[in-house]
Amino acid sequence: MYWNASIETMPAGKLKELQLQRLKDTVRRAGQSPFYRQRLAQAGVSADSLRSLEDVGRIPFTTKDDLRAAGREMLTCPLTEIVRLHASSGTTGQATVIYYTRQDIAAWADLVARSMYMTGVRPGDVFQNMMGYGLFTGGLGFHYGAELLGCLTIPAGAGNSLRQIQLMQQFDATVLHIIPSYALYLLATFTQRGVDPRDLNLRIAFIGAEPHTEEMRRRIEEAYGVKAYNSYGLSEMNGPGVAFECPEQSGMHVWEDAYLLEVVNPRTLEPTPPGEIGELVFTNLTRQGMPILRYRTRDLASWDPEPCPCGRTHRRISRIQGRDDDMLIVKGVNIFPIQIERVLMAMPEVDANYLVELTRENFNDVMHVKVEVREEFFQEDLRYLQSLQKRVTEALRNELLITPKVELVEPSTLPRGEGKAVRVVDKR
Ligand code: AMP
Ligand code: ZN
Repeated sequence: MYWNASIETMPAGKLKELQLQRLKDTVRRAGQSPFYRQRLAQAGVSADSLRSLEDVGRIPFTTKDDLRAAGREMLTCPLTEIVRLHASSGTTGQATVIYYTRQDIAAWADLVARSMYMTGVRPGDVFQNMMGYGLFTGGLGFHYGAELLGCLTIPAGAGNSLRQIQLMQQFDATVLHIIPSYALYLLATFTQRGVDPRDLNLRIAFIGAEPHTEEMRRRIEEAYGVKAYNSYGLSEMNGPGVAFECPEQSGMHVWEDAYLLEVVNPRTLEPTPPGEIGELVFTNLTRQGMPILRYRTRDLASWDPEPCPCGRTHRRISRIQGRDDDMLIVKGVNIFPIQIERVLMAMPEVDANYLVELTRENFNDVMHVKVEVREEFFQEDLRYLQSLQKRVTEALRNELLITPKVELVEPSTLPRGEGKAVRVVDKR
């Protein structure tokens, strides 16, 4: 049932002791990099001065800008010990680069294998990895984890919808790793080919890399006949395998032996109480080549204080509500794109994709929401479509408290790339 029972079910007190020990080791190790040697000295922090886990608060935060500016100054070892690099997807400016030693790659693969195993993946499973192979960590990160676990691994990579379906059929894939927006998008190709994904051998899907709602998960589960598990990670903390759902499908276990998580109020930077949304701040506890201390992710989620019935003691977080920098301010109202998705994906008439465009007309903010409508509803008469448009508008107004301009469009007509979905275009 567990990949590593002694770690996964370690009593909370012991886990905290392990974290403190590893935090000290990491601070010592980080101090060997030019960047942190200076940072830690300025802040007057040394490994030995950390007496409890709360002392982590004395360490300065690290931001994306710090990583960009520091580059290889973050390395704790000579380049001869570095065997790989990855980069963040760079949705917010220049990508940040992360370097790994051989041991870092192995430790990361073990965390991914642990995560996959937790959901019931076993040797003998056929794993189709539909994530980009390359600088993005989603592809190779899962690839190494799946091989370590003992899956027959299909390195399908991203995109090429028809081929994805052929691969699933030809090799009897049982487990998929797929971006959630792409999972819905791919359904149109299944329909064109006259293939029902539920007739294939699929039983599990890992969905992650972008924010998505419970409604989206349910849609994917129904359409594919699988259990879909939320997978969270970021390149700055290795990549996938940072926090992951267990069979309870209720929040993601943070692997606390490898990552120290703080959830903080993004304005005051004080810890938020359990259940309250805040920014995730992570510290590597086992990384060798490029440990990062107190990394401000901008990702928003909350601690779940309840113990999990699965028996794992590593605490859970809610699904990611979005990024601090994703928040839209429209007519003075704060809106997260995920709120729009929750409304749209709860409506059976709505198809796979939607796009939000913000413009300014006569000095006023206007939110346009383009919504793909399922083929069978799009066929209906004009009066039906008008009433549907009205219903969508009202549902969005109830959630957002502003009235968007809703435009219904044909299925599969909104732009769709291979990677993370772009949901918002701000033209203001
Ligand atoms: P990258 O920099 O390419 O490693 O992307 C990491 C970012 O993707 C995270 O900081 C999140 O913003 C987002 N992300 C990854 N997994 C999830 C997930 N399961 N739910 C929501 N957002 C995610
Ligand atoms: Zn659990």
